[in-house]
Amino acid sequence: MIPFLNLKDINAQYEEELKSAVYRVINSGWYILGQEVNKFEEEYAKYCGVNHCIGVSNGLDALKLILEAHNIGPGDEVIVPSNTYIASILAITKVGATPILVEPNIFTYNINPLLIEDKVTKNTKAILVVHLYGQIVDIDPIIDIAKKYQLKVIEDAAQSHGAVYKGKKVGNLGDAAGFSFYPGKNLGALGDAGAITTNDNEIAEKIRVLRNYGSGKKYENIFIGSNNRLDEIQASILRVKLNYLDKENAARRQIASMYLNNIKNEHITLPTAPKKTKEHVWHVFVIRTGEREHFQKYLEEHGIQTVIHYPIPPHKQKAYSEWNNIHLPITEKIHKEVISIPLSPIQPIDDTNRIIEVINSYKKHN
Ligand SMILES: *Cc1c(COP(=O)(O)O)cnc(C)c1O
Repeated sequence: MIPFLNLKDINAQYEEELKSAVYRVINSGWYILGQEVNKFEEEYAKYCGVNHCIGVSNGLDALKLILEAHNIGPGDEVIVPSNTYIASILAITKVGATPILVEPNIFTYNINPLLIEDKVTKNTKAILVVHLYGQIVDIDPIIDIAKKYQLKVIEDAAQSHGAVYKGKKVGNLGDAAGFSFYPGKNLGALGDAGAITTNDNEIAEKIRVLRNYGSGKKYENIFIGSNNRLDEIQASILRVKLNYLDKENAARRQIASMYLNNIKNEHITLPTAPKKTKEHVWHVFVIRTGEREHFQKYLEEHGIQTVIHYPIPPHKQKAYSEWNNIHLPITEKIHKEVISIPLSPIQPIDDTNRIIEVINSYKKHN
């Protein structure tokens, strides 16, 4: 079986360095908010080209903390793409604000900037963009709208570590960005982890306090905070893996370009390749087909593992039953047709060729 993503093999490449990082933490005797978190925050801020990075517990908490730090809560509206991973929307509802769902562009799968302005009301506080599947949102027109109505632009960068837009890295494109380092992400820890990047000094300071019980000075609490800290061990692991992020993204791009150049089948829609391929970090390679179940079974029978990102759109989830009757045709079409094929930074070229060959031989069922 060609695996969708073999995390064990990816991490095995760095085994010695990872072991010595973890031993360093064990031997330090200091396990929460110490040198490793400080150093990782410095290194990741530098990598993204921003003034501040704050390590946190996971990507969902990162987004929640950004919203909280901007005092976004009950009565406020946040514009968000309707076809995102559920966490982007959970963050908004968890702080008590209202998500305003906006349909994506069918070619890029990212929020359609042309549909945003109509959704702005007097209650709108922010636009939460999601760089889905590793591709950066066309953010300039969104920043223009945000300036016009004085809205915050928040990036959900959980799938796009290292992606570049007009010379700027992801995490440096809006007012603040939330990252996830869930193990399968482009920069993955060996457990849960996340971070926030921002150039705003005040917001950075507030998030530092909020993530640690709302306490800046030990046992003095200025906000009703939570425990959203990044562990020393995960930070030490991320410091090792950050050194290889660009190399791994380059390997992802190479496989993606093989797929884009060689998959040719009238029943398969390939993702739209950006003009400057550097912008895209190919968190997943998502194709579309009308008979997805049949296609998935065909690939499985030919030894190719696939994953669906994602089978049910947020507005059709039970958790959000109040939206179940809304009709969002582009989002629903995407969720019905998408399927992600294997793409790993260590995928052997023979596997990539085999996947291309199998997909090119696919015939429709009906
Ligand atoms: C993974 C992911 C998150 C959440 O990250 P966790 O670390 O799992 O909480 C948020 N948004 C998007 C788009 C994601 O892919």
